Amino acid sequence: MIIVMKPEATKDQVAHVASRVTELGLEPHTIVGTERTVVALVGDERPVSQDLLESMPGVEKVVPILAPYKMASVEMHRQPTQVKVDGFAFGGRKVGLIAGPCTVEDRSMLIELAHEVKAAGAVALRGGAFKPRTSPYAFQGLAETGLRYLAEAREATGLAVVTEVMAPEQVPMVAQYADVLQIGARNMQNYDLLRAAGNQPKPVMLKRGLAATVEEWLLAAEYILKQGNENVILCERGVRTFEQHTRFTLSLSVVPQLKQLSHLPVIVDPSHGTGRRKLIEPMSLAAIACGADGLIIEVHDHPEEAVLDGQQSITSAEFARLVAKCRRVAEAVDRDL
Ligand code: PEP
Ligand code: MN
Repeated sequence: MIIVMKPEATKDQVAHVASRVTELGLEPHTIVGTERTVVALVGDERPVSQDLLESMPGVEKVVPILAPYKMASVEMHRQPTQVKVDGFAFGGRKVGLIAGPCTVEDRSMLIELAHEVKAAGAVALRGGAFKPRTSPYAFQGLAETGLRYLAEAREATGLAVVTEVMAPEQVPMVAQYADVLQIGARNMQNYDLLRAAGNQPKPVMLKRGLAATVEEWLLAAEYILKQGNENVILCERGVRTFEQHTRFTLSLSVVPQLKQLSHLPVIVDPSHGTGRRKLIEPMSLAAIACGADGLIIEVHDHPEEAVLDGQQSITSAEFARLVAKCRRVAEAVDRDL
């Protein structure tokens, strides 16, 4: 961290800043220039409040040097992390596909669909049993019954199960059925939930908040990592912008950007990211081309009858065709699928 003093800062103010940062456990190095004095701090600056330093007399601004997230950062962990989900490693050479309905609806339909997406090449089945809905009057999910259907589908197919958990008190129950706990966009900054997910060993798929910056997102991942769970997969699912043409704006540039900042695997959700069935395939191909470690796609055999998100769901036959195309793109960027 570097503290830049105001041009008119007095020697006493500089000395006061230096003694305050020493109290905070950092080593100050004062550099007196012809126009400005700066105080460079040596040590872990992350626990130190930037606001506190910036409010001291004579201080103009504080420039952090280290990323505010530590465990999620490449600074601390140079090698890419591979998150193991059953036998599959997200973040390895293989691109992992997660597919299934927006919400668990019907037992036999789910099991049939699971067989179809597995045959097409999916490694995991998605489906929400607890649904975060904008309206309290809308369908809220089948809760534990839905989790049981997912577990049955896993038994029948061998697919791993990815499903959303919305509250800290739901974590033990969801973790009992799921292979990956999904934390949805609306809960990305639910810090009690992040901590609860970090206190158990199952992998966590952390979706980007609807209006979250990359830094906020990585700090949310940091909450999980800090509790001791290193198995975090980041999922880009689009952000809210002025654009009305698509449901959200799928920010694919965060994929290579995250790869420079973090060692965590990154997957992309082109279903929620676009809200449009026709855009799922092109954005899936683009996501793999720019380095995504996987995709999570809404698949339903009768999208027009889907309880939720039919407009952004593809059929399993379309999914199978998409996988074949994704495979060719994966090969082109030295990945397998
Ligand atoms: C979902 O994947 O089911 C979902 C609700 O997504 P998001 O949290 O990204 O809106
Ligand atoms: Mn959905």
